[in-house]
Amino acid sequence: MLEISKLSVRFGGLVALDGFDLQVGDGELIGLIGPNGAGKSTVFNVISGLYSPASGSVALNGRTLLALKPFEINGRGVARTFQNIRLFRGLTVLENVQVAKHRTHEYGLLGAMTRTRRFEADEQRMATEASQLLDMFGLYDRRMEDAVSLPYGEQRRLEIVRALATKPQLLMLDEPAAGMNPAEITDLMRLIVEIRERFKLSIVLIEHHMQLVMGICQRIAVLDFGVKLAEGNADTVKRDPRVLAAYLGEAL
Ligand code: ADP
Ligand code: MG
Repeated sequence: MLEISKLSVRFGGLVALDGFDLQVGDGELIGLIGPNGAGKSTVFNVISGLYSPASGSVALNGRTLLALKPFEINGRGVARTFQNIRLFRGLTVLENVQVAKHRTHEYGLLGAMTRTRRFEADEQRMATEASQLLDMFGLYDRRMEDAVSLPYGEQRRLEIVRALATKPQLLMLDEPAAGMNPAEITDLMRLIVEIRERFKLSIVLIEHHMQLVMGICQRIAVLDFGVKLAEGNADTVKRDPRVLAAYLGEAL
């Protein structure tokens, strides 16, 4: 479904990605790990249209994503969360989800202006879907609260809900467990597996929390200094000498 080939990204003299390849199939759950500064978020930033690569290709279902704008890429079915949470200030939890959902509206501008029956039905459907997603992520009771007043772990879950509200076929999560406590992480693992099954999603997960990555990903790619060091299942990656060297001193 997603095919990244020979992707290179430079920032001035810095090579953030150097000939990176990755393939993601329908319904796959793929981990992307590596030390800080390895180039992981850069991969997401290229796929989602925020960075332009120096060379290489990114295609979804055989069509290139390069040169499309971020909202067009979202329209093709790609959604993401950010390493640094980016919720809308001054909006409630529910409004944050509704803003995202309106990008998937099916009525035209005229319908919106004249508030046709179709428009009303769409509004109702979107409200129901937003509520269901919030409920699934344990945020329904918080729906009227200011989004940025939520505890950190809940803000991270809300970011995922907001991405899901755009009905992606590919979901990219950038360090979703960062700042979460152990109970929240266990919950998050279950949720990631559940949304993948329920919504038939492909998921790429960047994460430093090794138990989470190793526990749920079918395949894991390891980046270091913009180069893919290894790729395989948890056992293969854990035993790879290059991976161990890159993570020297850290528990895998
Ligand atoms: P990771 O997510 O693996 O920690 P990043 O992809 O964020 O790493 O960054 C990879 C490298 O590219 C780092 O050295 C980082 O400083 C650099 N980098 C990322 N984005 C930019 C940018 N917009 N401008 C300049 N350098 C960047
Ligand atoms: Mg990062």
